[in-house]
Amino acid sequence: MATLNTDVLVIGGGATGAGVAWDAALRGLDVVLVDRADLAEGTSGRFHGLLHSGGRYAVKDPRAAEECIGENRILRRVAADCIEDVGGFFVTTPYDDPQYADKFAAGCRDTGVDCEEIDPAVALREEPRLNPDVSRVFRVPDANIDVWKTVWTLARGAQQRGARVFPYHAAVAIHRGGDEVTGARVRSGLTGEEIDIEARVTVNASGAWAGAVADLAGIEGVRVLPGRGIMIAMNHRLVNTCVNRCQMPTDGDIVVPIRTVCVIGTTDVNTDDPDDHTVLQDEVDAMLDDGEKLVPGFRQARALRVWTGVRPLFEDSKAADTDSRDVTRAHALLDHTERDGVKGFVTITGGKLTTFRLMAEETVDAVCRQLGEPRPCTTRTEPLPGSEDEANYRLGERLERKEKHLVEDQLICECEMVPRRKVEDAMRRRATTNLDDIRRLLRLGMGPCQGGFCIYRATGILHGLDGLSAEQADAALLHFLQERWKGIWPVLYGDQLRQARLDDWIFQGVLDVEHLPA
Ligand SMILES: Cc1cc2nc3c(=O)[nH]c(=O)nc-3n(C[C@H](O)[C@H](O)[C@H](O)COP(=O)(O)OP(=O)(O)OC[C@H]3O[C@@H](n4cnc5c(N)ncnc54)[C@H](O)[C@@H]3O)c2cc1C
Repeated sequence: MATLNTDVLVIGGGATGAGVAWDAALRGLDVVLVDRADLAEGTSGRFHGLLHSGGRYAVKDPRAAEECIGENRILRRVAADCIEDVGGFFVTTPYDDPQYADKFAAGCRDTGVDCEEIDPAVALREEPRLNPDVSRVFRVPDANIDVWKTVWTLARGAQQRGARVFPYHAAVAIHRGGDEVTGARVRSGLTGEEIDIEARVTVNASGAWAGAVADLAGIEGVRVLPGRGIMIAMNHRLVNTCVNRCQMPTDGDIVVPIRTVCVIGTTDVNTDDPDDHTVLQDEVDAMLDDGEKLVPGFRQARALRVWTGVRPLFEDSKAADTDSRDVTRAHALLDHTERDGVKGFVTITGGKLTTFRLMAEETVDAVCRQLGEPRPCTTRTEPLPGSEDEANYRLGERLERKEKHLVEDQLICECEMVPRRKVEDAMRRRATTNLDDIRRLLRLGMGPCQGGFCIYRATGILHGLDGLSAEQADAALLHFLQERWKGIWPVLYGDQLRQARLDDWIFQGVLDVEHLPA
């Protein structure tokens, strides 16, 4: 069995774990980052897309609000290329308690969240599809953040400083010598091969799975209450600003425009299993009704797909008998030397995607304390690769680039403007046969046709590049289609149903996909 030695082993490659890897690598530590699946395939890749201003928590959870606005300001600089500065509105609709608006303004003032009340007529000029009966509107610095770009950029930045990154490697055992954790055994989900990783400190950044990973180390009582939520992507941007209902946080009260779509969410249902991705028809119906309250006619727009994510909420004594939305959204850092008398092991869980950098900073501070090596954090000022010029992403960028190279480069995915060169580069770089890995990197197949027009082209490219057998290429195509279908069928109605029929004809009629020799 192969063995590796490192300073820091990070278990979990979501935003938090990738953030820890980047932070530790910047501090000059040797790092190994592992995830049981692809990076950001856990909750991070299933979130709503909002870089919080803190407004959402200004009344109910002031600490979370302060953390969000602080991190929002930092990330806009250091992760500029991953963020689109769409701005945010909190709007009082006829369905909301009108008293809340004053509490909201006071909460923002107390927590330092930038907030300006504007005339609803101004908001309606900027967002003509917004409910015309909104009575009060506040402008806040919400934005959207592309999580796959963020997580892979963090990982790439860490790799450039020597870190080793292993997607599809699950921690299956944690090595314990008496009162010390000395690393972990990881197993490849693709080949079954195992690697022993000896580490001076092991960081458990496995989000909603943190309790299970702590169990592997024989540490009891790390309980994470998984709160499951659904989101629905609509086929274009019905609004260009993040629109939040000005009320206590509840279901279906935010629409986030991100890349070519907008996403409504979310719900919050207690579940026992962080891998529970149940979507209930009632939830979908209620979510679309909630959309109508913010954007009349919402139901007439095409819903592309629905998905679920599971919030990692660290369970304190209060959580057991409360709704999971009542547990603080703040994060929990557990230094197991102090908590359990076990050295070399740190758990970080909870929080929000918006606060991943802060969580990583506190975690690596704890790692450095354990190592007895004070090393200052630099992630507040060090830009991520690609964000050096502090320029935010703009929606038209892909189209602009395409127009410059119209003749040279074939377009593979028309919905998301993905050229052939990008597809080939990503396939070579990732050395993967999983088209979903490519999708996450490039947004391939994420537009209105959900892969109907592009994915058989991408399969052909994969086949040609990797010298895969026809059977392996067929299997890659089928896997992609099956994964997409899981999110498509619960929201099939209207024009999107017609689109799904067309896609079906393409795959059945042209490729006889059900009988491919995979
Ligand atoms: C519905 C929903 C909407 C949300 N919307 C927002 C939002 O708009 N804005 C915001 O700021 N926050 C939002 N959040 C919160 C945010 O998504 C999470 O707090 C954040 O993504 C958690 O990141 P993480 O890295 O800690 O966990 P994860 O992203 O879940 O990463 C943990 C990783 O650990 C891996 N793992 C598990 N077990 C093992 C093992 N044995 N070995 C190796 N790897 C393992 C998993 O595969 C996973 O990739 C939302 C959450 C939900 C559920």
